[in-house]
Amino acid sequence: MTTFTYEALPGRVVFGPGVASTRLSAEVDAFGARRILLIAGASEIALARELCAPFADRITATFSGVRPHVPVEVAESAREAAADADLVLCVGGGSTTGTAKAVALTTGLPIVAVPTTYAGSEVTAVWGLTQGSRKTTGTDPIVLPRTVVYDPDLTLTLPVALSVASGLNAMAHCVEAFWAPRRNPVSSAVAADGIRYLAAGLPSLAADPEDGGARADLLLGAYLAGSAFAVAGSGLHHKICHVLGGAFDLPHAETHAIVLPHVLAHNAPNAPEAASRIASALGADDPVHGLHELGHKLGVPAGLRELGLRKTDVDTVLDDILALAPADNPTPVTADGLRALLYAAWAGTAPTREDT
Ligand code: NAD
Repeated sequence: MTTFTYEALPGRVVFGPGVASTRLSAEVDAFGARRILLIAGASEIALARELCAPFADRITATFSGVRPHVPVEVAESAREAAADADLVLCVGGGSTTGTAKAVALTTGLPIVAVPTTYAGSEVTAVWGLTQGSRKTTGTDPIVLPRTVVYDPDLTLTLPVALSVASGLNAMAHCVEAFWAPRRNPVSSAVAADGIRYLAAGLPSLAADPEDGGARADLLLGAYLAGSAFAVAGSGLHHKICHVLGGAFDLPHAETHAIVLPHVLAHNAPNAPEAASRIASALGADDPVHGLHELGHKLGVPAGLRELGLRKTDVDTVLDDILALAPADNPTPVTADGLRALLYAAWAGTAPTREDT
C-alpha cells in the first residue's frame, strides 16, 4: 500500500463543442461581473469579441498586446487595463492565459479562461514572467482560473504544426507526471487517461485537421495533461528541456518531443508500473517504441542535431542539468547516464532501454 499526499486544485470546467457560444455568458454571469477586462492576442481578438457579444456592454476594457512568455512590460500594461475591472476573461493560448495570470497575481481578480491551444496553463496555479531573456516562474493559487470553458470548435483554426507541437507538449506533461515530485495515484490516473486521448487524437488530427472528434480528444487530453502536471509538478524531462531550450534557444515543442522518449527509456527499467501504464495508454507493446513511433508519424525531427545543436553543446550543459535533476528520479541521474541519454537524443537514434 502506497502512502501519498494529494492536494486537489479547485476550479469549474465546462467542456464541449459549441459551449463557448452557448455557455460563456452564464458562466460570466455567475460571477456577477459588471466590469470585465477581456484579454486576447491580436489574432484571437475578433473571435473573443464574437464570443462576448451577448455581454458586450460589460466588457469595459480590452487588452490584446499578448506576447510569448509574458514580458514584464506586457504584464504591467495588462494590469493598468485591469484598473477598474471585477473579472478577467481570457481567450487564447498559453501566452494569453499567462497574461491573465500576471494580472491576477497582483490584483487578485478572478479569471474565466477560454483556451484555444493544448498548453494546459488554464488548470495550473503556475505563473511565468520574463524580464529580458530571464523567465521567472512561481506558484500561487490566486492565479488559478476559477472557471475554464473548453470548446474544441475554437481549436479548429489551430494549424496542424502548432496543434501537433502543442499536443506533444501535453503528452510530455502526462508522461512526466508518472515520476514528477508530487506524483500520486490520482495524478497518475489522470495522466494515463490524458495519454490515451492525446495518442488517439494526434494521428487523427494530422490526417484531417477538421476532424471534430480528434479536436475534442486532444482538448480533453490537454485538460487532463494540465491537471496531472499541475498536481505532480515537473521532473527530469522538463529540467533537460528547460536547460537546453534556455542555453541554445531551441524550439520548445520539438525539443520536448525529441527528448521525451529518451527520458522514458532512461526511467522505464526502474519504473515498471509507470512504463506498463504508459504503454497500455499508448496502445503499444513497448512504451518507448510507442512514443518514438508516434513522434515519427507526426513528423517530429529525429534528433536534436536536426534543430542545429552540436554534440559538443551537450557537454556544456551536463553540469547544469545534473544540478537540477530530481533526487528521486526512478533511475538515479549520473553524469554518464545523462550524457548517454543526451547523446542518443542528439543523434536521433531510436531510444532503447539499453541506451542508458
Ligand atoms: P501561444 O499562446 O503563444 O500561442 C501560439 C500561437 O498560436 C500564437 O500565435 C496564437 O496567436 C496562436 N493561436 C492560439 N490559438 C489559436 C487558434 N485556435 N487558432 C489559430 N491560432 C491560434 O502558445 P501555447 O503553446 O498555447 O502556450 C505557450 C506558453 O504557455 C508558454 O509561454 C509556456 O511557458 C506557457 N505555459 C504555461 C503553463 C503553466 O502552467 N503556467 C503550462 C503550459 C504552457
